[in-house]
Amino acid sequence: MKVAVIGAGFSGLTAAYYLSQKGHSVFVFEKESELGGLGGSFKNNNWEWSLERYYHHFFSSDKEVLELAKELEIENKLFFKIPKSSIFVDGNIYRFDNPRSVLSFSKLNLADKVKTGIVSAFLKINPFWKPLEKITAEKFIRTFMGEGSFNTLWKPLLESKFGGDYHQIPASWFWTRVKKRSFSLGYFEGGNQILINKLAENIKNNKGRIFLNTEIKNLNDLNHFNNSDKIFVTAPAQVFLKITPDLPESYKNKIQNLKMIGCLNLVLSLKDKFLADNTYWLNINEPGFPFIAVVEHTNFIDPKHYGGEHLVYVGGYYPQNHRYFKMKKEDILKEFLPYLKKINPNFKFQISNFKLFSDLYAQPIPTLNYSQTSLPSIKTPIPNLFWTSLHHVYPYDRGVNYAIKLGREVADDIIKKTKK
Ligand SMILES: Cc1cc2nc3c(=O)[nH]c(=O)nc-3n(C[C@H](O)[C@H](O)[C@H](O)COP(=O)(O)OP(=O)(O)OC[C@H]3O[C@@H](n4cnc5c(N)ncnc54)[C@H](O)[C@@H]3O)c2cc1C
Repeated sequence: MKVAVIGAGFSGLTAAYYLSQKGHSVFVFEKESELGGLGGSFKNNNWEWSLERYYHHFFSSDKEVLELAKELEIENKLFFKIPKSSIFVDGNIYRFDNPRSVLSFSKLNLADKVKTGIVSAFLKINPFWKPLEKITAEKFIRTFMGEGSFNTLWKPLLESKFGGDYHQIPASWFWTRVKKRSFSLGYFEGGNQILINKLAENIKNNKGRIFLNTEIKNLNDLNHFNNSDKIFVTAPAQVFLKITPDLPESYKNKIQNLKMIGCLNLVLSLKDKFLADNTYWLNINEPGFPFIAVVEHTNFIDPKHYGGEHLVYVGGYYPQNHRYFKMKKEDILKEFLPYLKKINPNFKFQISNFKLFSDLYAQPIPTLNYSQTSLPSIKTPIPNLFWTSLHHVYPYDRGVNYAIKLGREVADDIIKKTKK
């Protein structure tokens, strides 16, 4: 059986790996010059390890990542540790990553702290998310965690992640956010790219072929694939619509209703540590900032792997028509710098290098009752055509773990069918 996989992100590569392992002829087409999609990396010449274009780590609940790493015999390269997470509010950095730091957080009153703690603990153990998609995250948090908790902790996150659409985000999104996160974060020795490389190496060993710099503009262009072959598309919704002629109207309408927001981050290579208190993840909970988070990667991973450089991501999520997507990196840095100075007023910005990465399709915007009304099926109405996207991991929020899961499930489905 011939299978065409469109996209060499985690879902496409995982599917191609399992299919090629079972002896299918797999052809992966990737429009970019590199593998990995949103989870891809880059590496400077003087670095020993590669670095993700967007901040990436794993949670201890990421079962699919752990299993795949084991299968690919690189589980010994995956390590976990507990870096420091903090929030920036009213001009100060507050540690916010364990019960003690939450209890001593002075911006919330005791009642809201207690409610936040109890409700978080409940969400951690509650397996039932479906009832939660009937109410908004905003209503849920305001009601059960308190106004203070909503305004200080969660509103800034919801607003910066979903912009004006934050009012419609279902509480099921909030459930997954609390449930699946762990204090302990995982990373691969050498960078997460080693998981991508290992998948690609196995695909090639199994005689699968990967074509980089190959954008599929129309699925009909895959003319050496006949009707009984399978096609698995992993491109974002808008792209899938564009490249797939002949989709029935009802299915198309569902796709058109799916909403996405873009992301953009600068990666700064600094001479010195920026977050001197060793914070790895700093959420910005202050109104008016042009970015949502400052992530000092080298407060998680030793800078010695990057030639001693201190690497800091600064970025956020922006509507797809945001002016930032048309701006030069120098101009964005100019806008961000005054705000970085508010976080660390004494910092001497000796920036040896900086890069800008952006993607218009970075974060799905789920709506109420998403599972009932909004999600188009993975098996499309066109025979032998499968499609997954970041939307399909709902109720979970996007993540490498879920991309791997989708890729494996589509491969299993194809393998099962060809056995019959
Ligand atoms: C800012 C940010 C931070 C994140 N942090 C984390 C994290 O800490 N931990 C975590 O687990 N996950 C994280 N994620 C999510 C994770 O990166 C994604 O969920 C995952 O990489 C998605 O993989 P995918 O294969 O589904 O999609 P993608 O990575 O989007 O892959 C799709 C691929 O298809 C290609 N393509 C598209 N159109 C075409 C075409 N016409 N022809 C050929 N190729 C095409 C694209 O170039 C791309 O390579 C983060 C994402 C972002 C944006």
